[in-house]
Amino acid sequence: MLRLAAMGVFAELGEEFEEVVFFHDAPSELHGIVAIHSTALGPSLGGTRFYPFTTEEDALRDVLRLARGMTYKSAAAGLDLGGGKAVIIGDPKRIKTEELLRAYGRFLQSLGGRYITAEDVGTTGGDMDMIRRETRFVTGVSPAMGGSGDPSPVTAWGVYQGMIACAEEAWKDASLAGRRIAVQGVGKVGYHLCKHLTEAGASVVVADVDVDAVARAVREYGCDTAEPDKIHADECDIFAPCALGGIIRDDTIPSLKCRVVAGAANNQLAAPEHGEQLAELGVLYAPDYIINAGGVINVADELRGYDRARAMRQVEGIYRTLRRIFSTAREQGISTARAADQFAMERIERVGRLRRIWVAGQ
Ligand code: NAD
Repeated sequence: MLRLAAMGVFAELGEEFEEVVFFHDAPSELHGIVAIHSTALGPSLGGTRFYPFTTEEDALRDVLRLARGMTYKSAAAGLDLGGGKAVIIGDPKRIKTEELLRAYGRFLQSLGGRYITAEDVGTTGGDMDMIRRETRFVTGVSPAMGGSGDPSPVTAWGVYQGMIACAEEAWKDASLAGRRIAVQGVGKVGYHLCKHLTEAGASVVVADVDVDAVARAVREYGCDTAEPDKIHADECDIFAPCALGGIIRDDTIPSLKCRVVAGAANNQLAAPEHGEQLAELGVLYAPDYIINAGGVINVADELRGYDRARAMRQVEGIYRTLRRIFSTAREQGISTARAADQFAMERIERVGRLRRIWVAGQ
């Protein structure tokens, strides 16, 4: 494994990031990194990714990129949370044990709440329950432990609300009835999204590399199917990326035949310029971290005693946020991706500034 020394960790942090912490517990093989990008709006929150990174550099770059993304996501969602993220280096199938998770939990506790964790790739709700035995700075624990459980239905509801905002912007008509919507990835979020879309009268076409996932969507919601490597080129009204990131890139943009890109996947744009390219092509893009904020809104609700109905209502705010971002983009002649970044940054500056006002006990 390549070592970090050659990388220049501080140089990598640039002007941003408050804190990067390396956790090490040799007996349990815990090698973890927590990146706290910003606590301007509150404690940083973001999931723990447990992944066999090829190099330590890859792990650090990933955790930094993801932590920054969480700052923007929570700020735009109107939450009193900053951005952070964690990675544990290693194959979870091989090294994930009670000992490792509890060691990790104890290290998290030592951060005193500056970083609150949640589930991400390679970690599960069950893992959060285990971590909870050592620290209270964890969300997404099971309902039996007072937690919010699986966030996917809430995320899907948020994406659906966001699509209504997209329809109003693109067609001046909020109804999705009769619209053809291509959903790439019918896993936890995509599956629930198909339910809302078919109930709204949309015609839904799905693709997934997992044939069982496709079969379930066909059986339960009567969806049409497409090939996973062609779904982005489907002639549709809305293309909904709900699988992995990076689907909007140089080689896929020319084959898009949709009017709108709106889905749950994180990091849909392979690079920031792809947001500009979509705008130039007249494709309306719902910025991913705005439309998929249901998951973080859901776990944030857990911090005040979880209430799913309240979380669902708050998620409906995604509709209003997107309307606002679309009108800013239209009025200023900028891409929706850029308008979203501006929106998040403005809130961090305006509301974050208030923390400079001294208040007893804070
Ligand atoms: P998931 O793993 O349950 O579902 C992803 C699905 O995509 C799987 O069924 C998988 O087989 C499929 N897939 C993988 N590669 C594919 C490909 N090349 N073509 C077609 N299908 C492919 O994950 P999820 O929880 O549903 O999350 C989906 C996306 O939404 C991810 O990018 C995730 O980061 C993001 N997201 C999820 C939540 C949440 O609440 N679960 C919240 C915010 C963002």
